[in-house]
Amino acid sequence: MPAATLSPEVMAKYEPVIGLEVHVQLLTATKTFCSCANQFGSAPNTNVCPVCLGLPGALPVLNEKAVEFATLASLAINCEVRERSIFARKNYFYPDLPKGYQISQFDKPLAEHGWIDVPTSDGSTKRIGITRLHMEEDAGKSLHEGFNDSATHTYLDLNRCGTPLAEIVSDPDIRTPDEAFEYLTRLKEILLYCGVSDCNMEEGSLRCDANVSVRLKGAPQFGPKVEVKNVNSFRFIRAALEYEIERQIEVVESGGSNRQETRLWNSAEGRTYTMRSKEQAHDYRYFPEPDLPPLVVSPEFLAETRKKLPELPEARRARMIAEYELAPKDAFTLTATREFADRFEAAAKTARNPRRVANLLLSELGGRLRALGLEQEQSPVSMAGLVLAADLLDENKISSRQLKQLFDVCFEKGEDFAAVYQREKPEQITDASAIEAMIDQVISANPKQVEQYRAGKKTVAGFFVGQAMKASKGQANPALLNELVTKKLEG
Ligand code: ADP
Ligand code: ZN
Ligand code: MG
Repeated sequence: MPAATLSPEVMAKYEPVIGLEVHVQLLTATKTFCSCANQFGSAPNTNVCPVCLGLPGALPVLNEKAVEFATLASLAINCEVRERSIFARKNYFYPDLPKGYQISQFDKPLAEHGWIDVPTSDGSTKRIGITRLHMEEDAGKSLHEGFNDSATHTYLDLNRCGTPLAEIVSDPDIRTPDEAFEYLTRLKEILLYCGVSDCNMEEGSLRCDANVSVRLKGAPQFGPKVEVKNVNSFRFIRAALEYEIERQIEVVESGGSNRQETRLWNSAEGRTYTMRSKEQAHDYRYFPEPDLPPLVVSPEFLAETRKKLPELPEARRARMIAEYELAPKDAFTLTATREFADRFEAAAKTARNPRRVANLLLSELGGRLRALGLEQEQSPVSMAGLVLAADLLDENKISSRQLKQLFDVCFEKGEDFAAVYQREKPEQITDASAIEAMIDQVISANPKQVEQYRAGKKTVAGFFVGQAMKASKGQANPALLNELVTKKLEG
């Protein structure tokens, strides 16, 4: 079916229902049940052993670090962590699964009943429930492409077998593709802040299956859901959901009914295809893993893990908005990664006026970086340079115009601020009579503004300060200039 073109009126009759299943690889040094390296990019089949290859007689031993990371992630998304969870075998046949089953968790997962808040377009937030977070192991990889005989052969790389995963399942609370995008962005940010995964989608360390159905608004029950697999970026997930919602609505509108099925997203064509219907769905014959005891997360372990929780992005943004008097949008910029926010705050703390550092970072520096398409890491001006610049401004040792000029040099020459400042040491006019002369000129050239000021419009002072500063080529001592402008206007 081609991408539908339904009218907004028709679309508006329906409500999409979306739930997301996210798999993240945990950043442990070794695999879940053996001591093989958990490493992306090794030569094929070099990080393998009898346990992860499923050789007869090999027994799994649980990696405590994997439990710690999964528990940390569970706490970060507000889940209740179960004291005793059970590993279960999920049985299916696939070439990249040498054991013939995946060790996962089924009816007693590690954690349940969580939530994350996502910002909405109207500036409020919406709480998305999290059904569960469970631990499982990854499978290997089938390599279908890139070999001379790829037309007739498939190769197997089993390095990924046994890599620890956390699967995070959302409640069917999401209502739009944008909300899904936002949920994923926030979830990824939280996991990155916790340091439990690198969430690198290109390398497959974060993977998402999207479940979506539509129903007439007000209908008491959900429609049959379609699970869309094989989507490897958040933008594609949004696109796949948009496509799928239209497709499903069109089915209903044309008198048909949707069926529960699994579909694949094809990003080149921008559409989904049926992969298997419900009738073909797997019966995984889950049963408790006989080779592993129940996983016990003791209250002590839980308390220790809770101590390792960092300040999470949302809380950090709220604090920074208050502390640095930021606009919400700017708080997102400053907290984009934990590492960046840490670097900023460590530096800002050392400045006379931390808010000024935030300001410079967002305006002077941010503006230049954006214009040049550069990332923060590529900035010639370091955090220390920003602090120096902020302090100089604060102490009125340079004017903001001089600061702009110094920043220009930094960017032209690729030099940090301290070096440029030391060399250029911009001159300052601190001679009051010289500054007064300039102010007098500006005042006599602008009688209308003087009148406005004297009529009570005190903000016009800023105009005179700007004009006089310009006349001084930015060299007047800003504090002195300010003071003298007021004195002259009042006088
Ligand atoms: P399954 O048994 O097929 O795995 P689950 O009930 O475990 O289904 O749900 C898997 C995901 O699908 C969850 O994220 C859930 O929120 C979502 N989901 C469940 N039912 C629907 C529905 N009718 N429409 C959209 N999403 C749904
Ligand atoms: Zn192994
Ligand atoms: Mg399920």
